[in-house]
Amino acid sequence: MTGSAKHILVVEDEESIRQTLRYNLSHEGFVVTEASTGPEALAAARREHPDLILLDLMLPEMSGLEVCRVIRQEQSVPIIMLTAKGTEVDTVVGLHVGADDYVTKPFSLNELMARIAAVLRRTEMGGREQAPDRDVEEIDNFRIDRGARTVHVDGEELHLAPKEFDLLSLLLLNAGRAQSRQVILQRIWGSRFFGDQKTVDVHVRWLREKFERFDHLPFRITTVFGVGYRIDRLDRASGAT
Ligand code: CA
Repeated sequence: MTGSAKHILVVEDEESIRQTLRYNLSHEGFVVTEASTGPEALAAARREHPDLILLDLMLPEMSGLEVCRVIRQEQSVPIIMLTAKGTEVDTVVGLHVGADDYVTKPFSLNELMARIAAVLRRTEMGGREQAPDRDVEEIDNFRIDRGARTVHVDGEELHLAPKEFDLLSLLLLNAGRAQSRQVILQRIWGSRFFGDQKTVDVHVRWLREKFERFDHLPFRITTVFGVGYRIDRLDRASGAT
């Protein structure tokens, strides 16, 4: 025992699943807190500041998405959603509200443990390695601040969901070079997001929609057929009238 056991908040209204999770997570050395409703989950998150939250999508009183959205506004704790089989749309929306990963019920404990480990590893790496170079990037009327995680166009702040921000940031850091959907998934969602490449398309669509109303964006997100996406800088100087 290292004395720094990670603390996991389990939010699940089905008692049998909750108890199974508590038993197995405790067995793996995690400290576990349980909540069975959204309000309980919010209270526990605020009180205990867990290292990770397992959050059931289908909860009484307050949906898992709503819980996720509220927690996201208050803390940067990683969140893994527990979703029912076949809720693909809900899954994507769950990511849109800021979940870090999801598992589909019924899930194997091995799979869940692997995802927990991966999410915790990514979080720790992200915390330590906040690359200070290129923290702020300004192109004409566009400004991205990776430290503050803000984006401004024409001086106006654009509100991006966490994954939208990460996607934009990744594409900008690699401007002019195509990024495959697989690479984007690995870099932003983690390597275990195998086979869910539509998630990338959905987030690109959301990004495009958010930028759509600006006439003079200094870049565009280009679809690279059969591969993925690339950000192209637009050289407005040469095209000026
Ligand atoms: Ca449930």
